[in-house]
Amino acid sequence: MSRYPSPIVLMYHGTPKETPISRYSLQARLFKKHIQYFKKNGWHTALFRDLLDIKSLPEKTVILTFDDGYLDNYLGAYLPLLENQMKATWFIATKHISNSANWLPFRSPQNDLLSHVQILDMHRNQMEIGSHTCSHRELPSLHLNAQIDELIHSKKLLETLTNSSVTSLAYPFGRYNTDSLIAAREAGYNLACTTQPGWLHLEPNPLLIRRITIFSGDDDKILARKLSFADNDVSWPKVMRYYSDRVLDRLGLVKSE
Ligand SMILES: [Zn+2]
Repeated sequence: MSRYPSPIVLMYHGTPKETPISRYSLQARLFKKHIQYFKKNGWHTALFRDLLDIKSLPEKTVILTFDDGYLDNYLGAYLPLLENQMKATWFIATKHISNSANWLPFRSPQNDLLSHVQILDMHRNQMEIGSHTCSHRELPSLHLNAQIDELIHSKKLLETLTNSSVTSLAYPFGRYNTDSLIAAREAGYNLACTTQPGWLHLEPNPLLIRRITIFSGDDDKILARKLSFADNDVSWPKVMRYYSDRVLDRLGLVKSE
């Protein structure tokens, strides 16, 4: 079996020039290191929607996803990716386009979001634009019909903007319930992603795709471990535990908790 059993999906947020305020954002200079790491180590990038044809993806495929569509992604992620002929998928909360991520607990210019013109430019240069709902509210806090509204209206707006179909979704805050899955299907999404870490299974539930979270301190060494272990926590104690479990497993010893 390959060391990299399946495509792996990473979740990014902001990519500011300055030190990030949010632990979910990655400074632009570190994102450039991620790009160099992918290039040097033979990783291919694909769009999130390419998972629909998962078997056609080469070994060592990484799918880069950006939630919320921060303005600093334009210079900090989109242009560097384009320069390196790489692709990524952006999940946009349509009510907040050209505005600010007002659901965050702090105010900062780092919360500013992409404009319609920028999103269209990215779409025209082969990036995928997916939905992150209209309002960025937690879907489980809404009734089924309100969830369907969020998913249909954001999809329609992005389809009008890009003049092409939008079939990918990311649940805000990674939160979903049974109604969310019904709403996603009803609204016509083929694929949706959560924030649960881990490998994709051979036949993953297309509305519950796992992603690995990238945090502000994730340099290329931590990135390398995340790609190897498909986990958010790749601290050395956890990694060592992984190896010792494998050794015990090979020796046929039962691991005690
Ligand atoms: Zn979000």
